[in-house]
Amino acid sequence: MPEIPTTGREWHLVARPQGWPQPSDFALREVSVPEPAEGQILVRNRYFSVDPYMRGRMNDVKSYVPPFQLDEPMDGGAVGQVLVSRAEGFKEGDHVLHGLGWREYAVLDARHATTVDPEAAPLPAYLGVLGMPGLTAYAGLLEVASFKEGDAVFVSGAAGAVGSEVGQIAKLKGASRVIGSAGSADKVRALVDELGFDAAFNYKDGPVADQLKEAAPDGIDVYFDNVGGDHLEAAIGRLNVHGRIAVCGMISQYNATEPTPAPRNLALVIGKRLRIQGLLVKDHAHLRDQFVREVSAWIRSGELKYRETVVEGVENGADAFLGMMRGENTGKMVVSLGE
Ligand code: NAP
Repeated sequence: MPEIPTTGREWHLVARPQGWPQPSDFALREVSVPEPAEGQILVRNRYFSVDPYMRGRMNDVKSYVPPFQLDEPMDGGAVGQVLVSRAEGFKEGDHVLHGLGWREYAVLDARHATTVDPEAAPLPAYLGVLGMPGLTAYAGLLEVASFKEGDAVFVSGAAGAVGSEVGQIAKLKGASRVIGSAGSADKVRALVDELGFDAAFNYKDGPVADQLKEAAPDGIDVYFDNVGGDHLEAAIGRLNVHGRIAVCGMISQYNATEPTPAPRNLALVIGKRLRIQGLLVKDHAHLRDQFVREVSAWIRSGELKYRETVVEGVENGADAFLGMMRGENTGKMVVSLGE
C-alpha cells in the first residue's frame, strides 16, 4: 500500500501581474489533502505543465477559460499516478492525465481524468508532443490553415512545443519549404540541424520582415502565428495570393500593459485574398485519435523528434512558468515532481 498523504503543496496566485509576472505574484502553500469521495480519485502528480495561456488566466478578465482566483490553487494539465480510487474504471497505480496541475496531490472526479499508458510514451509526452500542444499544432496546421502539399509554411515560436511540431508535420506532409523563427542561435541551429526545417532565423537579430524575406524568397502560403506583433505583419507582407494564417497565439503581447498596434499592412489581405482564422484546440477534439495515431507512428519511426525542458521540483513551478515566458525552454516546458 502506498503511503496516503495528509498534506501537500500547491501553487496559489496571490497577486494579479501588471505586465511581466513577478515571483512574488505566486506562493507555494501547504494544504491538507482531502479524502476522495465516491466517484473520485486521489492522484500523486508526477509532472505538471506550464503554458503560455496561463498568463491570460492571471488577469481578471472574461475569456475562453476562467481566470485564476487569488489565493486559490492554480490548475492546468498534469499527469500522475492514482494513489486511491473510489471510482469505477480506475485502480491504484493507474497513470492518468487530468486538469489539476500546479500541486503535488490532486483529488478529482474520475470523469475528468483519462488513463494514459507510460509504456506507450514517457509521461511528459502526454503534456506535450502527444497532448494539448501537439493537437494544437496538428489541428491548426491541417484544419485551420487548410495546409496542402506543396505549401511553403512559416511558423513563429518554432522551437517551442507547438511550433516545433507544426514545422515537422508540415515537412512530413509535403511542404515545399518550412521556415521557423525563434529567439536564440542555439534554437535556430536545432531547427535546421535536428528538426529538418529548411530555414530558420533569430527574430532578435534584426527586423522579422527582412529576415523572412531572405528565408522565403518565393513567399509563403501558410503562416502559423504563435507570436503576433511584427511577426504577423511580416507574414502578411510575405504571404502569396490565397495564403492562410492560423492565429494560434500572440505571446509577444501577453504581458503588454497598453493596447498593441494592429499590423500596418492589413489592407494587403484584400488584394491577396488572405484568410486569417483564430483557433482554439478545444474545438478540434474530433481529431484527437487520428492525431495520436499519426504522431505516435512518426515518433516511433524517428521521423518526428521532440524535446522537453524539465524543471525539477514543485518548488520551482513558478520559476518554470516565468522561464518559459522568457524562452528558457526548447520544446515543451514541464515541472517534474519526482519518482
Ligand atoms: P512554447 O512555444 O513552448 O513556449 C513559449 C515560447 O514563446 C518561449 O519559449 C519563447 O521562445 C517564445 N516567446 C516568448 N516571448 C516571445 C516574444 N516576445 N516574441 C517571440 N517569441 C516569444 O509554448 P507553447 O505551449 O508551444 O505555445 C506556443 C503558442 O501557442 C503560444 O502563443 C500559446 O498561447 C499558443 N497556444 C494556443 C493554443 C490554442 O488553442 N489557441 C493552444 C496551445 C498553445 P523564444 O526563445 O523563441 O523567444
